[in-house]
Amino acid sequence: MKKILITGAAGFLGSHLCDRFITEGFYVIGMDNLITGDLDNITHLFPLENFEFHHHDVTKFVHVSGKLDYILHFASPASPIDYLKIPIKTLKVGSLGTLNLLGLAKEKNARILVASTSEVYGDPLVHPQNEEYYGNVSPVGPRGVYDEAKRFMESITMAYHRHHGLETRIVRIFNTYGSRMRLNDGRVVPAFMGQALRGEDLTVFGDGSQTRSFCYIDDQVEGIYRLLFSDYAEPINIGNPHETTIKEFAEEIIALTGTNQKIIYKPLPKDDPSQRQPDITKAREILGWEPKVSRSEGLKIVYDYFKSLSPEELQKKEH
Ligand code: NAD
Ligand code: UDP
Repeated sequence: MKKILITGAAGFLGSHLCDRFITEGFYVIGMDNLITGDLDNITHLFPLENFEFHHHDVTKFVHVSGKLDYILHFASPASPIDYLKIPIKTLKVGSLGTLNLLGLAKEKNARILVASTSEVYGDPLVHPQNEEYYGNVSPVGPRGVYDEAKRFMESITMAYHRHHGLETRIVRIFNTYGSRMRLNDGRVVPAFMGQALRGEDLTVFGDGSQTRSFCYIDDQVEGIYRLLFSDYAEPINIGNPHETTIKEFAEEIIALTGTNQKIIYKPLPKDDPSQRQPDITKAREILGWEPKVSRSEGLKIVYDYFKSLSPEELQKKEH
């Protein structure tokens, strides 16, 4: 049985990846320090013989006994609210955490895939963003703690690949949404859904003309899965190219939820990217991958998921 270590396992993406690799017949070690994650996302895996959980901070030395075939490094705060609250820990998990996991991969001769982000393109001047674009990031701006940590993650991963011949993969993930997100993690999909559920007005930051392109979780997981088993070591974008303005998106959520909330406008956070859309030519050509779930289908699934939670479960999702 192939053995895989997944860091950030109790988080949104990490928990869905645990599910996928369990389904594919892997032995999965989930690792997390629970700083933004929630054990509830993976407790259903605890009774399984091919799953174990390590409560561990990956910025400290990481040890796993026995053989290890693959590592997915997904530990990191991912929402602007989270990483602005814990800026130093964000820098550490992208830098020291990545270094520790690359070291482990080298020791075990394991293939490692690291979770990078569309944020490496910053507030992009090239649109849509292809992998050749170097980005427009302020290293000293508030979002720099996340963006630069991920840029360092990419650099050190390529260095281990080129210098040590390590088998590495880098996925640049564009805004992904799905079940298990925390309703108040500040990201726009759970924020708008939570507001609709509570009967509150939807908060659009700035004038809402900034754009994003939202990818449904199952499509994202499929892209990551294919990348891990490809032989492509350069960074690759995985996301849904269907772009929308945030104002249109708020209107879409109001139509979907059938509620009659208004849109209210709040100040735009500093360095909030004005446009974002992945160029997925490489993913199409190299991985034979493209997203299958439309935004309206995906949003409906996620809204139904949040609606199906009990009041206690909903309250927990708002911690
Ligand atoms: P999340 O906050 O739900 O999950 C992150 C998990 O990492 C949490 O469970 C958290 O407790 C854990 N973690 C953080 N620091 C840790 C540490 N030092 N040691 C051990 N565990 C630690 O976020 P997510 O949306 O699931 O994001 C997962 C990964 O994907 C992140 O690396 C993020 O940068 C990347 N990513 C996500 C998106 C997205 O749209 N969801 C977009 C781009 C990149
Ligand atoms: N946003 C918003 N209202 C909210 C939360 C976010 O208008 O309540 C905006 C935010 O300013 C950004 C976009 O939605 O322009 C996406 O934000 P998110 O935090 O989800 O992702 P990121 O900015 O990291 O792409």
